[in-house]
Amino acid sequence: MQRTYIKDLKTEVGKEVSISGWVDVRRDHGKLIFIDFRDMSGKVQAVALPSNKEAHEVANKVRSEWVVTATGIVNKRPERMISKNKETGEIEPNGDIEIELKGLKVLNEAQTPPLDVRGDGKEINEETRLKYRYLDLRRPRMQKTLRLRSEFVDRIRQFLFSKKFTEIETPYFTSTTPEGSRDFVVPSRMYPGKFFALPQSPQQYKQLLMTAGFERYFQIARCFRDEDLRADRGFEHTQIDLEMSFVNEEDILNLDEEMITTVTEAMGYKIKQKPFPRFTYKEAMEKYGADKFDMRTEEDKKNGILAFAWVVDFPFFEKDKEGKWTFTHNPFSMPLPEHLSSQLQNIDTEKIIAQQYDLVCNGFETGGGSVRAHKSEILKATFKTMGYTAEQIEKDFSHMLQAFDFGTPPHGGIAHGVERMVMILTGELELREVQSFPQTSSGRTAVMDAPSDLSNDQLKELGIELRKKK
Ligand code: ASP
Repeated sequence: MQRTYIKDLKTEVGKEVSISGWVDVRRDHGKLIFIDFRDMSGKVQAVALPSNKEAHEVANKVRSEWVVTATGIVNKRPERMISKNKETGEIEPNGDIEIELKGLKVLNEAQTPPLDVRGDGKEINEETRLKYRYLDLRRPRMQKTLRLRSEFVDRIRQFLFSKKFTEIETPYFTSTTPEGSRDFVVPSRMYPGKFFALPQSPQQYKQLLMTAGFERYFQIARCFRDEDLRADRGFEHTQIDLEMSFVNEEDILNLDEEMITTVTEAMGYKIKQKPFPRFTYKEAMEKYGADKFDMRTEEDKKNGILAFAWVVDFPFFEKDKEGKWTFTHNPFSMPLPEHLSSQLQNIDTEKIIAQQYDLVCNGFETGGGSVRAHKSEILKATFKTMGYTAEQIEKDFSHMLQAFDFGTPPHGGIAHGVERMVMILTGELELREVQSFPQTSSGRTAVMDAPSDLSNDQLKELGIELRKKK
């Protein structure tokens, strides 16, 4: 018999069906055995009657998390047995039907899980949850979150395709870029002693795609940053990364705002203020004392309101710990037109404002981008301000400077953190709660054992000698 998904059972009342999934809970009432079955679409209660000996025997044996196929008749439950939401009084999904078991086949048994997969899971220690992440992901909260994440990304894609964007992948094996974080590096076998860097973002490639004439690019891009781990930071995160040609700051903000609004509203969220209020960096610092802030009232928080705002006009440069000029956000940005001549002359550095913008929502920075420098002399001036010598600029950025000299159009873009957005949409406070197999807070992988040793042969092949451990 063809499999019916549990969510679709309500239209099958009176019919015989076959379902496949897991035993969620089993309640033995002596003669009657109740089993809640679960598949990717939902849950349903089934009852094994002693009159059906075969099914009853198997029902006696199965335990939580066993994998089964069940056949039976879908019945309406008697009024007093209908399960309703205690608060709203609404009938729970499949709360008014149950399956009278005719057959039950075990596809795979399961040991007692080392962690409860039904509750919220937040009380379970992280090590156990991540060691058995494939079980931890069975819990309804994680199922809901990862499905919501998938829907969010799907809607973003649909929106961008509707606006004539092309989705293009860029390499993971690349060279180090100045994104302001530490690179993850990969040793090269073919060039012993040399290393690739994993991208901190596709920034330079997306700009080169503008040179290449794609005009509207996006990518759901994985980014790698070797940073100290925090609640909202992991080694890997995903960005909705986009770039457009022949646009100004206003065009980018408008398109991006339309994307975020269309997608979140279609998912049922309410936005506090439209169009999103805009603050200059200076205004934000004066009003909120920070460039990310929460504009929600207590009432808004209860109602799951999204309070977006743009922060614009960031200073291009700031002094680092050693007193040297460094970029605040993105070295590839363009200064405001009225500051371009200062930038080119490397004067009044502290006054230069970049065409750089951040999107904040509910206290988080969820995205950021800029109009870019698309002429080589501007990019050269930026690095010169930051103390790069002409040789260094040539060595690190000749590919960009050259591309700019081959007809690169004016362009700009933005990137949004998928995890940050999903954290806001779900109310989760940890990045780990919105990724499938995140790193532990001590920087190890979930389920699999990494980082781990390489064999002597592998090291030899890579031309790597490890320093003796003290
Ligand atoms: N590449 C930037 C980042 O990762 C985003 C952008 O400017 O588009 O923060």
